[in-house]
This record gives sequence, structure tokens and C-alpha cells, in this order.
Amino acid sequence: MTVLMIHEMNEYTQIPLGLCTFDDGLLSQYVYGKGLPNDKIYFICPKFIMDGFNDIKQKAMTINHLRELIDMGIELGGHSYYHTKLEGLPDLKNQVYHIQRDTKNMMEWFKQELDYIPTKFCFPYNNDLNGLYQATITHYNFKFYGASRVDIPA
Ligand SMILES: [Zn+2]
Repeated sequence: MTVLMIHEMNEYTQIPLGLCTFDDGLLSQYVYGKGLPNDKIYFICPKFIMDGFNDIKQKAMTINHLRELIDMGIELGGHSYYHTKLEGLPDLKNQVYHIQRDTKNMMEWFKQELDYIPTKFCFPYNNDLNGLYQATITHYNFKFYGASRVDIPA
């Protein structure tokens, strides 16, 4: 299986067949990605949807865009609530505490805004902190996606 990560794409991007995953919930991914013949997972970061843009000011989808994807049968996954750089937190305890709260907030947001329960999860910045991220949230039974994916430059 070919697994791809695409943060940004346009009408000229060449997409090989396989599973396409999209991180953050960007508007461009909605516009150019939703019609691709590939299997797709959109990994959504609620903060970016609520803010209207991601951490580098790329325009995000709205909740209505996400509802449309769901109605099309396209899968949404979790990508953390805040997309925090965890290596910036002071110690292991703070990292674990943040991951627990963040994941809980993310799941509540999906339920409340979309009546949706994600079963796949992709780490923010592809950083699973040497397994700490997965170990902290095992009880959600997510299938995890991370750095093994292939990045396609914008
Ligand atoms: Zn991301």
C-alpha cells in the first residue's frame, strides 16, 4: 500500500494510486482532494477549523465542508485538537497530561460538531514522541498514521 501525506496540493499535483491522507483540514485539500479516485482519510485538527487557518496561516475548511466530506462517505481522522509541538513542553509529565486532555477535547469536538467518532489518528508534526503518544491514548483504539507516510511537497 502506498501512503501519501499531502499538506498542500493544486490542480497540477500528480497523485499515484493508493491511500491519500490529508493533514490539518485545509480548504485546498477539500477543493482538490475530495474528487480523487483514491481511498482518502482527512486528518482534522479542530483548532484550525475553528480558527479558519492552520499554524502557517493556510486557509482551513469549515464545519460544513467537513459535513460534506462525511456525506460523500469520506473518512475523517483525528489530528489532535491544538496541534501542539510537544517537544516544547517542559517534561514527560506535562507531555502526557497535554496528550490526554487534548485528545479528550478533540473527541468531544468531533462528537459535538459533527456527531462523528474518528477511529484513525495522525500525530501533529508526525511526532509520536518515541511511542509515548500512542501509549498515552491506547484506550481510544485508534489506528495510527505517522512518519512512515511519504510527503509530497506542495
Ligand atoms: Zn498537521
